[in-house]
Amino acid sequence: MPFPTAPVKEDLFRRRAEVALDFVVVGGSIAGLSCAYNLNQAGHNVRVLERSSGPGIGTGGLRVPPNMTKLLFHWGLGAQLVKLAVKCPRIEFLESTTGEYLSGLVMHEEVMAELQADMYGMLYSDLHLMLYDLAVAAGVRVDFNVNVVDVDVSEPSVLLASGQRLQADIVIGADGPQGISRERVFGPGEKFKIGPFTGYTLIRILWDPKLRSLVDDEMGLWKVWMGAHRCVLTFFVCSDQYAVQLICPSQEAVHNWTKSMPLLPTAEKFDDFEETVQRLLRLVTQTVETQNVIQESTSVWYDKDGHVVLIGDAAHLLNPGTTHGSSLAMEDAAVLGSLFSRLRSRDKGDIMRLLAAYQEIREDRCVEVNKSEFGKCAISTIAPGDPMYEVRNAGFAASREVKALDWENLGDPYLQNVWEEFKGSFGYEAYDAADDWWVDWGILTERLAAAPTMVVTSAAEEDNDELVPAFDRLGLTSHVVVTSVTQDNGLHR
Ligand SMILES: Cc1cc2nc3c(=O)[nH]c(=O)nc-3n(C[C@H](O)[C@H](O)[C@H](O)COP(=O)(O)OP(=O)(O)OC[C@H]3O[C@@H](n4cnc5c(N)ncnc54)[C@H](O)[C@@H]3O)c2cc1C
Repeated sequence: MPFPTAPVKEDLFRRRAEVALDFVVVGGSIAGLSCAYNLNQAGHNVRVLERSSGPGIGTGGLRVPPNMTKLLFHWGLGAQLVKLAVKCPRIEFLESTTGEYLSGLVMHEEVMAELQADMYGMLYSDLHLMLYDLAVAAGVRVDFNVNVVDVDVSEPSVLLASGQRLQADIVIGADGPQGISRERVFGPGEKFKIGPFTGYTLIRILWDPKLRSLVDDEMGLWKVWMGAHRCVLTFFVCSDQYAVQLICPSQEAVHNWTKSMPLLPTAEKFDDFEETVQRLLRLVTQTVETQNVIQESTSVWYDKDGHVVLIGDAAHLLNPGTTHGSSLAMEDAAVLGSLFSRLRSRDKGDIMRLLAAYQEIREDRCVEVNKSEFGKCAISTIAPGDPMYEVRNAGFAASREVKALDWENLGDPYLQNVWEEFKGSFGYEAYDAADDWWVDWGILTERLAAAPTMVVTSAAEEDNDELVPAFDRLGLTSHVVVTSVTQDNGLHR
């Protein structure tokens, strides 16, 4: 498929910040490494501290939606992605106990071409290695076996378990939802609610002859068995490995991606699922259990002085085993990097404006995706008897009739809804979002900040209700006096 954005790898933004800041990134997983690479390309000095022992450790599989594929291509990693990952041509939704086909979602060539990228399944470890190599080749220093025991928001710095303290201009908290960075920014005692789902990511090499059909049916096909309060999703993550994600309620699990669990007690909860699922679960070799926890608030992404900034799961956690966990983290990184490539000075006001922009651009997107992903988990686990069960199945029946997402029939209202959903969640362009913000607000706020008291006259007075809160968020209210309208005040682009 032709990809419109040329891979750039180096000189990503075709501009560099006018001053280089020192960033320390706590956590070197998907968010940390992506962010490090983007900030490096923006012209800053970046050091990543990761407590695990090396790159490419992790046993699970993850989904790579088109919005994430686009970023990987853009970072020059397209060829590796295509080689290592498995493209998803179609998703099948099945009734859990019988395996009856309920509906399907086809990744039509035309639709994916419109989205400019494909959907893949891949190993977490492969993605991690790709990002590690990318960041290090660009000049980022990544230290493993480094445990950060404290993050200081007053004097931006981190304390290591070794007793060493590292200073920075800005600390990036990429250490996950329950890491020390979030605690320092959010404040102590955040209460995580236990969500209704637990995800289990499991990997199995498919040697079993009775499961051959899963491979032979259609390479890359994803299957979802939808049961009462539980569901099973299976997809390829490389040519000979299969990821099996289970969702079922549990109150005992913890949020974790590294601790292996015995599967048996969980597998027994799926005894009423059709035989293929039973067989798959019996063949599983490695399991990680990770509880869906719900963060108390998503509204605090950086501290009041702009010393510590959260990114990825530390800022906005999705329920485990969803499509967008890693894609949102990479989008954050792209937006933050793009904004900081425009930094002109070490002035606190300049930095705070970029941080406000980062959250402004990203927060609504993350909230929307979170809602939509949560909804998909809920829809996949509706029990018979629930009024929504019939509604869901009626929707599936309608989609069967129009051959779900049949490009030829896109005039159909059902398909138009599906397309809108596709476009919204998969069509997101992180770099465009950052550039749009810059054109709409960045230039304006930069000029306003340069003038001690600027008379803002361009907007009609009825727009003031929108302008003033927006300036306020960007820390500019004190500079702004809104008076009458003139056309030539130097604020126009
Ligand atoms: C090992 C591993 C395997 C994963 N496997 C899958 C998977 O198979 N499927 C899936 O959908 N998602 C998986 N995830 C989760 C997925 O990476 C995230 O949901 C998403 O990519 C957002 O990533 P993140 O970087 O924000 O957070 P995370 O991926 O959770 O990364 C946080 C990082 O911070 C490090 N860290 C935490 N505290 C400290 C500290 N004090 N000092 C130094 N380092 C610290 C952690 O070791 C970790 O590497 C995995 C995560 C990890 C860490």
